[in-house]
Amino acid sequence: MAVDFGLQGQVAIVTGSTSGIGHALADALAGQGVNIVLNGLGEMNAIERTRSELAEKHGVEVLYHGADMTKPVEIADMVKAAKAEFGELDILVNNAGVQHVAPVEEFPDDKWDLIIAINLSSAFHASKAAIPIMREQGRGRIVNIASAHGLVASPYKSAYVAAKHGILGLTKTIALETAQQGITCNAICPGFVKTPLVEAQIADQAKARGISEEAVMKDVILAAQPTKQFVTFEQLAGQLLYLVSDLGASANGASFAIDGGWTAQ
Ligand code: NAD
Repeated sequence: MAVDFGLQGQVAIVTGSTSGIGHALADALAGQGVNIVLNGLGEMNAIERTRSELAEKHGVEVLYHGADMTKPVEIADMVKAAKAEFGELDILVNNAGVQHVAPVEEFPDDKWDLIIAINLSSAFHASKAAIPIMREQGRGRIVNIASAHGLVASPYKSAYVAAKHGILGLTKTIALETAQQGITCNAICPGFVKTPLVEAQIADQAKARGISEEAVMKDVILAAQPTKQFVTFEQLAGQLLYLVSDLGASANGASFAIDGGWTAQ
């Protein structure tokens, strides 16, 4: 991104940044000269490749921490590691997330618990560990990657919708508790983004429904998205960079729908 957001030398943790949106946001932050703590699941060689590519491409330091977002102790350790390695923690992006789709009465209990743990509780644990560091610095930015499903529901996504609505409540509470310490907490609510996860669904749905991939994108996946366009990584990165920069200092406790008009309906 050609715009300089004045973030050079800052330090960010991006959870779930080995893939998809998290990786794109880590890349955008690194592009502004921000040192990164990369996190997420994956095959170790692939993760190391991602880590070193990010560092080389942008000339920043990138540390990988493999904290499992279902484990509060590991999450706290990741925050501690960021502070120990870089001496500060300026930005926390709570992005890791998973999905499971089933009617409520058939929704597996373990999937409910997993989604609440990764999509909601991990943001609480990471913020709890990060806020004391940010308070001491007198500056900090927490950005939660929620979803259009933080604002409206869809059938069969009970755990995901509950977690994403919950994270907006957490966002507001943290914003109020930290407002006078130079810390802000906001949420970004993306509509559909074409991550590998969604791409796989396009091919599967086309096969299952016997229609073209084009038709699946427009009439199935983007049925609720009035622009009929996927939200891009760059559009989310632009919102994130604004929020974490000094320009975003008065945005606090807010949720930003970047969803092509989905939740305007
Ligand atoms: P993705 O599957 O590409 O990436 C998810 C990331 O989370 C990966 O890095 C994965 O390793 C990590 N992760 C999963 N479980 C983990 C665990 N237990 N511990 C640590 N890391 C774990 O998905 P994505 O589409 O990039 O989604 C990222 C975020 O954006 C999620 O919170 C998702 O709900 C949200 N979102 C996505 C879309 C979309 O259309 N793709 C729309 C709205 C919101």
